[in-house]
Amino acid sequence: MESFTLPSPMNKVVFILGATGSGKSKLAVYLAKRFYGEVINSDKMQVYTGLDIITNKVTEAECDGVTHHLLGGVHPDMDFTAMDFRREANSAVESILRRGKLPIIAGGSNSYIEELADGVGGKFRSQYDCCFMWVDVELTTLHQFVAVRVDKMVEQGAVQEARQVFKADHNYSRGIWRSIGVVEMDSYFRAENSGADEEMKARMLEAAIDEIKANTYNLTLRQLQKIQRFCKMGWEVHRIEATEFFLRKGHVGDKEALWEKVVGEPSVELTRSFLNT
Ligand code: ATP
Repeated sequence: MESFTLPSPMNKVVFILGATGSGKSKLAVYLAKRFYGEVINSDKMQVYTGLDIITNKVTEAECDGVTHHLLGGVHPDMDFTAMDFRREANSAVESILRRGKLPIIAGGSNSYIEELADGVGGKFRSQYDCCFMWVDVELTTLHQFVAVRVDKMVEQGAVQEARQVFKADHNYSRGIWRSIGVVEMDSYFRAENSGADEEMKARMLEAAIDEIKANTYNLTLRQLQKIQRFCKMGWEVHRIEATEFFLRKGHVGDKEALWEKVVGEPSVELTRSFLNT
């Protein structure tokens, strides 16, 4: 792997924005490995401990030795607010910079990003030089992909994961229990517990999975609207057009090369010029 010798980043921070499923976490690790970085998670459900499949946390293998901050660790019943995120992310940024490394903030919760960057009078953006990257995927393409991803999560054990934490008196309005993939399963688990027949259960499970897909779809729409709002607010957001990668079918190795070409390399170029200015 090509790696770069760069001056210590001092006060530079990279943000990776994008809708669910666009590949932000992969890009964050990719850049961290090339620019001596550490990743700060800005997905509001991935900050909690638990539900690793449902919230789609990066696995240890995917982290590939790169240190991640705010990935798990918060008690699942707690409400970790945007202000909590601002405080914790600020201290992670300070610690990463103090060690001469590059902070890379990646995740889909744009209210967290906005609170960090512009909260309390926009102190962060005057204190640090910020580079915002947006991994953008054309909507219809992203939506097809999101549905496939939900099916993959189910294959990986998302239903079992939700079943393990199911409680008849669950409060779905707090902490990690607000995650898409939890409340949608509620009726199905109730049916299981009340001895519904196999056909009924199969129908309910299918309906629950369809609802998860619909809710994830709506989440991506809201996320894109928020990123577009950042652009209108005057933030300089560098858009990386990743659609070509998502459209391409084929061999894993070919796809990897295409990802490098359409997402990896342009992001490396952007980061390199950001760090050199
Ligand atoms: P909002 O202000 O609407 O909460 P936001 O930008 O702060 O927006 P989002 O990341 O868009 O936060 O999350 C909104 C909702 O989407 C969450 O409350 C949760 O229900 C769901 N959600 C977000 N991320 C995930 C995830 N990784 N896994 C499951 N559900 C998620």
